[in-house]
Amino acid sequence: MKRAVFLDRDGVINEVLTHRVKFVNEPKQFYFLPGVEVAIKSLNDYFDYVFVVTNQGGIGLGFMKEKQLHKIHDHMVAELEKKGATIHEVAYCPHKPKAGCKCRKPNSKMIVDLGKKFKIDLEQSYMVGDTDTDIQAGKKAGTRTVFIGKHDPLADAVYPNLKEAAQWIIQDLKIGNNPQ
Ligand SMILES: [Mg+2]
Ligand SMILES: [Zn+2]
Repeated sequence: MKRAVFLDRDGVINEVLTHRVKFVNEPKQFYFLPGVEVAIKSLNDYFDYVFVVTNQGGIGLGFMKEKQLHKIHDHMVAELEKKGATIHEVAYCPHKPKAGCKCRKPNSKMIVDLGKKFKIDLEQSYMVGDTDTDIQAGKKAGTRTVFIGKHDPLADAVYPNLKEAAQWIIQDLKIGNNPQ
């Protein structure tokens, strides 16, 4: 079985709701958060896969076309790859927030489907996100969870950014594999 890290996108990899960008509807609005390349690169060393799982309700709501989202993701993956950081697949939910679909986080379908496709041991895998719905989705899927922010009641760990979260994940993985 393989191991993976599932990353939420907005607020984990790139800025949203900052002085220079509200939501990302085109590649030029995509600003990487500091340390993200290094963090993903280090996760690549310890995990078979790094995936992105993102709610993109803006498509269902008509703010962005699906083709445009693909452009944004191609840009994200290419920029990271230039720095030696690999994203193996990007899964997204394009549905309206209130459509009641099975993929939108806090539902776990995006994680579970990637898990099946890539034969992932979800218990040995991690979901990282900056909203409670990310953590709930990870828990439902059976992963370990890391919250990016200040506090989350459900998460296994809380860190202010992906770089610190990745360091904890790698330590946690090592401890899990080598019980005292
Ligand atoms: Mg987010
Ligand atoms: Zn959906």
